Amino acid sequence: MMGQTHALSGALVWLGAVPLLSQDRLLGDHAIHLSPAQLIAGAVVCAGAALLPDIDHHNGRIANTFGPITKHMCKWVGKISGGHRQATHSIFFAVAMGLAMDALATHFEYGWWAALFVIVGFGLRGIGLDFEGKEPQSALADCAVAALAVFLMHDLDMSFAGFAIALGCLAHVVGDCLTPRGCPVFWPMKWRTIVPVIPVTDGKVERWVVSPILTLGVAILTIRSVLGDITTRWLTKG
Ligand SMILES: [Zn+2]
Repeated sequence: MMGQTHALSGALVWLGAVPLLSQDRLLGDHAIHLSPAQLIAGAVVCAGAALLPDIDHHNGRIANTFGPITKHMCKWVGKISGGHRQATHSIFFAVAMGLAMDALATHFEYGWWAALFVIVGFGLRGIGLDFEGKEPQSALADCAVAALAVFLMHDLDMSFAGFAIALGCLAHVVGDCLTPRGCPVFWPMKWRTIVPVIPVTDGKVERWVVSPILTLGVAILTIRSVLGDITTRWLTKG
């Protein structure tokens, strides 16, 4: 699947999940209520995390995000995880990343900012922030925009970050399951889940069906969430 499709799926899953998670009637004290800024920050984090499972691919799009640093990181992750589309494309990885990022976001602020920088960088690369054949310039542009995003988010309460990361990784796994190669969703079990709805990456189905549906979904849910918040504020004021 294309990076753009993964990033869109992450944002969509987040925007779809938040209204459910804010239901006091369903979740009682566990319900979460986010401000519009937190909602958008969560969507950015979830979209970036939806690229994260591909850190097992040394030649993939995100391997070049921050030049040799990410290239080496992806190479080693690929070796340790058993190759492309192995351990990192599973529920296990999604939950582990979610827990690790939750621990960082709640106990180790600087570590979380560093992780956020990398995750946003991956998301930017995923949606296509790179200049054809100009790697240093692309990496610099990624660094600049990722740093700006971290700066904008550094003051926000991001205690929901671990959840957004896990959801993003899961969205990626589901997306890759729709391709002929599938994923070992229940890794370390070797059995692969394959529902081959998207026959080729960047083919007609992905470009003309999946991508537009995801884009439309993200647009509708963003407008709905922001309008809903404005209405609630207006009603409580009145
Ligand atoms: Zn993948």
